[in-house]
Amino acid sequence: MLDYVDLEADLDEEERMIRDTARRFVEEKVKPDIGDHYEAGTFPEELITEMGELGFYAPNLDGYGLPGVGERAYGLLMQELEAGDAGIRSMASVQGALVMYPIHAFGSDEQKERWLPELGTGDAVGCFGLTEPQHGSNPGGMETRAEADGDEYVLNGSKTWITNSPIADVAVVWARETSAEESPIRGFLVETDRDGVTTNKIDDKLSMRASITGEIGLNDVRIPEENVLPGVSGLKGPLSCLTQARFGIAWGAVGSARDCFETAREYATDREQFGGPIARFQIQQEKLAEMATQITTSQLLAYRLADLKERGDLRPEQVSMAKRNNVRMARDQARIAREMLGGNGITTDYSPMRHLSNLETVYTYEGTHDIHTLVLGKDLTGIAAFE
Ligand SMILES: Cc1cc2nc3c(=O)[nH]c(=O)nc-3n(C[C@H](O)[C@H](O)[C@H](O)COP(=O)(O)OP(=O)(O)OC[C@H]3O[C@@H](n4cnc5c(N)ncnc54)[C@H](O)[C@@H]3O)c2cc1C
Repeated sequence: MLDYVDLEADLDEEERMIRDTARRFVEEKVKPDIGDHYEAGTFPEELITEMGELGFYAPNLDGYGLPGVGERAYGLLMQELEAGDAGIRSMASVQGALVMYPIHAFGSDEQKERWLPELGTGDAVGCFGLTEPQHGSNPGGMETRAEADGDEYVLNGSKTWITNSPIADVAVVWARETSAEESPIRGFLVETDRDGVTTNKIDDKLSMRASITGEIGLNDVRIPEENVLPGVSGLKGPLSCLTQARFGIAWGAVGSARDCFETAREYATDREQFGGPIARFQIQQEKLAEMATQITTSQLLAYRLADLKERGDLRPEQVSMAKRNNVRMARDQARIAREMLGGNGITTDYSPMRHLSNLETVYTYEGTHDIHTLVLGKDLTGIAAFE
């Protein structure tokens, strides 16, 4: 397994254990069937509780049965899961960083006790509703609204492109509280079996096919005021969750790129043309050399991010740089790996084309590549170029 600058040497026992557990899980439970799931457009739902039992959901949080492992261990987990498939890593990212994190960071004690243990074991599934049909890159334009009515809120609006909404028990819905002054964005815990909630599945995806994606329709949905996340108001609520998830994505992308590299390396040494393995041709060696270099430098960025996060110094702009760089890197390497596999490379028998089309989603969700470019541009110049 590619580890060109021996990062392994610096891992502690806990980090090795988590990485090895995830690697074994991917080898035994994900890789054998993921191509079939990808073709069928299904998620291996039987793995949801198994991933919970293995501690894959928000292990970097503590309390409520969560172990509070270090950020590097969490990153390694995301890396290994995405080496299987970005759909598997998305399941863990959404459940942990986008659902459990906001409840942990901004929820009441009752909300934490109600949801964190069940979400942690995978006995409940959560989803994160921010994107709307007319507001993707600019979530501040959201139209979903929550109106206070006595000791309840009435929610109306629609969310789209929501990972796991069709199988979710609870949705963290971000909406404008129109009955409050200046209509701030607030987070609402919406149980999906409430009257007026619909969660239609989006079926026609060509990317991230082994992941369930859907909409959330909210039509006069009544929830008690206890379901508001009390600890946050404004766009910083959803954005702080996205910073957590993007940290995991920066690591995950390294995993899919590494799997593409290993597949291409093995193929190049096995496949013979012109009387010997294609790995003997300088053009193929140049591709492997470049892939290994790109993966290694992206991995170093991910490791540095974990150190900064661990000591509380990580800035969202640094996460933007790593998400932007590492996902582009992975997309580029997946294409090269696919190319090295010739015609066989376009099938589900090999991982690179599946990773490549998954990475089209990863390039777009959690802030598009363009938007992270603008975040960095603003940070570097002090001038915002969003509008
Ligand atoms: C499979 C999948 C799963 C997802 N899961 C979730 C989820 O669980 N929860 C959730 O809330 N969302 C989710 N999303 C939504 C995702 O976050 C959005 O698709 C993303 O934010 C982009 O929004 P958009 O698709 O509306 O594109 P748009 O915002 O319409 O962007 C279209 C293009 O315009 C560019 N663009 C936009 N604004 C600017 C600008 N100011 N300057 C330059 N270029 C610009 C973009 O970079 C992009 O290339 C998911 C998406 C997918 C595909």
